[in-house]
Amino acid sequence: MSLIETIDKSKNYLKFSKAISGYVEVDLFKNSDLNKGYLCYNCLYYIQDNKCSIVQTDGPDVNNKKNRIITPHGVCTLWYHNESELKKS
Ligand code: SF4
Repeated sequence: MSLIETIDKSKNYLKFSKAISGYVEVDLFKNSDLNKGYLCYNCLYYIQDNKCSIVQTDGPDVNNKKNRIITPHGVCTLWYHNESELKKS
């Protein structure tokens, strides 16, 4: 297990804004197989119920979209692979 995989997702750490992280929703992949590709769904930091352990849900993303969620078909520059999700594909 790598150091990055030991991060406790239940802690309330300070988080990056969507804009600073480079977060964007990729609507093209909204209905695709989310187990494949560089998407939030496959990211180690993703938390079910449309949240992220290191990026805020509030505020505008890089496209100035404001919806108070982190979508499974979104992605940011901090993406890190979640092996357990990728193995399902
Ligand atoms: S790619 Fe990962 S770190 Fe970035 S917003 Fe999505 S879940 Fe969070």
